[in-house]
Amino acid sequence: MPRANRRRREEPRAVGGSLPTSVRYAGGEWLVRALTGAGSARGYLCPGCEEEIRVGTAHVVVWPADGVGGAAHRRHWHSVCWQHRERRRPLGPIR
Ligand SMILES: [Zn+2]
Repeated sequence: MPRANRRRREEPRAVGGSLPTSVRYAGGEWLVRALTGAGSARGYLCPGCEEEIRVGTAHVVVWPADGVGGAAHRRHWHSVCWQHRERRRPLGPIR
């Protein structure tokens, strides 16, 4: 069976790579963690450039530090797009 069927925790903190760091962005606090991409099962759409993050590409995952919204508010960004996030579009409505 595909590993995607496995139940996953909302916060991807135990999947290797670095520990999350907290960042202030768009009026809120976010946790950011670098992913190697090695464990990716699918591509993601980067909100910074609206291009696909291809499977196996190192990137960052960002989610609200307060946990509101959980996985639905998690965003995968190209590492470069996240570094230049102030020049990119915001993540969407922040409540
Ligand atoms: Zn991007």
